[in-house]
Amino acid sequence: MNHARTRLVMGNWKMHGSLADNAALLGGLVAGAQRAGSAQLAVCVPFPYLAQARQALSGSTVSWGAQDISVHDRGAYTGEVSAAMLADFEVSWVLCGHSERRAMHGESSALVAAKAAAALGAGLTPVVCVGETLSDRDAGDAECVIGDQLEPVLALGAESLSRLVIAYEPVWAIGTGRTATPEQAQAVHAFIRAALTRHGAAQTRILYGGSVKAANASDLFAQPDIDGALVGGASLVAEEFLNIAAAAA
Ligand code: PEP
Repeated sequence: MNHARTRLVMGNWKMHGSLADNAALLGGLVAGAQRAGSAQLAVCVPFPYLAQARQALSGSTVSWGAQDISVHDRGAYTGEVSAAMLADFEVSWVLCGHSERRAMHGESSALVAAKAAAALGAGLTPVVCVGETLSDRDAGDAECVIGDQLEPVLALGAESLSRLVIAYEPVWAIGTGRTATPEQAQAVHAFIRAALTRHGAAQTRILYGGSVKAANASDLFAQPDIDGALVGGASLVAEEFLNIAAAAA
């Protein structure tokens, strides 16, 4: 682990939550946040709950983020949420190009890079998600697919790359209970690190995501190019999420 890269453990609540459930979860995170030690702890919540997250987490060491962003500043884009709107709620992070959005909403890699640029323009930190499907992997195409997904993001240049985060999330490991082995994850992280290094951004953080839980987090975090985790299901239970944070501490 290169200590210049502060570890980051980020929850992705996806479309889960209610005011009552969130209050308990956020309260639990604030109460146990010190278990993250020097690692950063964050949650990406559904848009309607940004105000609740801001109220519950302000003054704590837990930061909050959104799960998507519009490339547009304002206008006739029904259902979209702009970077400035997210900044209004003091959002720190925004997921860009989660595989569920690429698959279900047809988001292209060019659009994902444009979303990252929109976030950067408002002072938010984009977390750009990349990852191959099982058929890509089985065909030996994982690096090729990830390289293609990264290309328009790398084209944003070193200064932008130094202000964003990459999350490697093999699609076959998301929500399936099947985690990449630490070696499989490290191999892809090293590939991504090499690409970032060629573009002058060797210190950009790379998170691993895909069925991370307390039981497998330590082995993943022991890999030299894994700088933290993007956590779906396990981020909905305060104790489990904090146990992952403790593994990163
Ligand atoms: C995710 O949604 O980004 C994710 C990694 O989900 P899970 O941890 O549930 O696999």
